[in-house]
Amino acid sequence: MLKLSGEALASELSDEIIDARTVRRIAAEIAESCEELSVELAVMVGGGNIWRGTTGAAEGMDRATSDTMGQLGTVINALALQDAIEREGRPTRVLSAIAMAEVCEPYIRRRAIRHLEKGRVVIFAAGMGNPYFTTDTPAALRAAEIEAQVLLKGTHSGVDGVYSADPRSEPGAIRFDEISFAEVMRRDLRVMDMTAITFCRDNSIPILVFDLMKEGTIRGALSGEPIGTLIR
Ligand code: UDP
Repeated sequence: MLKLSGEALASELSDEIIDARTVRRIAAEIAESCEELSVELAVMVGGGNIWRGTTGAAEGMDRATSDTMGQLGTVINALALQDAIEREGRPTRVLSAIAMAEVCEPYIRRRAIRHLEKGRVVIFAAGMGNPYFTTDTPAALRAAEIEAQVLLKGTHSGVDGVYSADPRSEPGAIRFDEISFAEVMRRDLRVMDMTAITFCRDNSIPILVFDLMKEGTIRGALSGEPIGTLIR
């Protein structure tokens, strides 16, 4: 299960919320890796490049409404990703937690598993369909539901793993190759939402934190190369 942040799809150079070149690069890596490594891959795509529920809530908006807007943003990203992966020759299915019959399939666990068995990249949209969450926790939940071996958390901020402190502000921070769930929680390391971290701990799903923006890292993560930080 790959958690792909919506912001990873945005352009650094312009105001484009979806940068075609970046999406193409990520899609190509996903399609090639699935083909060459024969792995089954599901993607939970975020929506932070379009809308975050907390942004509207901070302006006084109803939180649940604002979060629904965020979830709809993830559907836009999911369609962009679907289009790009299919242009690379890999079949995909978008499964949304919010029913949208004209646009994509609804999320049905058994159907997701069947798509994966048939070699389709499954793209989960609309998180888990509930407000008050980000897409980190649905990524962990769906990982458990489809019995994923690992949750790959791709970062887009240039941080290539879990550090003892934020390496962007503390140059002396050390990077862990491996770290336990307990240690992540004890140190309050914000690599993912804590709800997602505790869920993965309780359900024994390892998390690999790696730099998504560096070329070849998706493939590296999927083939078990020692990149990033493994939390288990
Ligand atoms: N969201 C939600 N429920 C979910 C998943 C997402 O309400 O199950 C909303 C929430 O407002 C969140 C937004 O969708 O801020 C976009 O998702 P996220 O912040 O995870 O995007 P990312 O940071 O991964 O780009």
